[in-house]
Amino acid sequence: MTDEVDFKPLSGMVLPRFAGIPTFMRLPHVDPGDALMEKVDIGLIGVPWDGGTTNRAGARHGPRQMRDMSTMMRNCHHQLDIMPFELANCADLGDSPVNPIQLEDTLGRIEEHFRKVVSQNVMPLSAGGDHLISLPILRALAEKVGQPMGMVHFDAHTDTWDRYFGGAMYTHGTPFRRAIEEGLLDPKKIIQIGIRGGLYHANDKKWGLEQGIRVVEIEEYFDMGPDRTAELAREVVGDGPVYISFDVDGMDPVFAPGTGTPEIGGYSTHEAQRMVRGLRGLDIRGADVVEVSPPFDPSGATALAGVTIMWEILCLMAERVGAK
Ligand code: MN
Ligand code: MN
Repeated sequence: MTDEVDFKPLSGMVLPRFAGIPTFMRLPHVDPGDALMEKVDIGLIGVPWDGGTTNRAGARHGPRQMRDMSTMMRNCHHQLDIMPFELANCADLGDSPVNPIQLEDTLGRIEEHFRKVVSQNVMPLSAGGDHLISLPILRALAEKVGQPMGMVHFDAHTDTWDRYFGGAMYTHGTPFRRAIEEGLLDPKKIIQIGIRGGLYHANDKKWGLEQGIRVVEIEEYFDMGPDRTAELAREVVGDGPVYISFDVDGMDPVFAPGTGTPEIGGYSTHEAQRMVRGLRGLDIRGADVVEVSPPFDPSGATALAGVTIMWEILCLMAERVGAK
């Protein structure tokens, strides 16, 4: 690779979208060890790991299918009129190292990888992987940011459970409990949108609420609608640094069946898009889209929903970069 990389996606007018090597959004691939990193503003990163999954595994295959479906993305956001690739240099940074048979080793590998990325002033936009991947990413990012971050969290589940199977601290049901305990996130600046599904115990809601998390259960969401919910999210996170974590199971399984822990009665893909757009202008420092599990949706519709949400978030990130 030379210095002449222009960080623009390969156009579907030049090479058809089904052809070529499918990087995220057809962007150039840059290795985090490459000198070109100096020019990158936003890095799209796969984290192909599902060792934190407690039920149906498969999210390790997410990044590859999401890259494939991401070839559908184009250059200009049709509603926001944002052209992200004109505002920020974006690149596919490849996949984070993982160890599919060792959980704690993997957490270390992901954290180290993201440390390398963020230390070069590259904002991470990641594709999971199960939701536990957010924890090592937040460990790397919060250190860089230098203060606990706020978070807009889209999910059917709070992911603030404590222990599984008699003592396991690290599963995709616990990342945000750990992140709050470790001071990576400010619980009073967290909003969780779309929470539903059965609990293990009536007390399961208590811990998060006691920390001050604003939990928007799906019934409240449907009472408010996407625009008002986004306004509420803005009120909760304020103008401080914020992370966006988007679990595709927040959407209804009619729209996103390819996921490990589906819950009926969720929001639609369009409603999810509307909410993300409502976060325009926030001080976003990083984001992930997780829990796309291709074995449960070989059609790729869930992966397409996931990468389109990545695209929506990317537009907001690029606008922030461009404004600096
Ligand atoms: Mn989750
Ligand atoms: Mn979930």
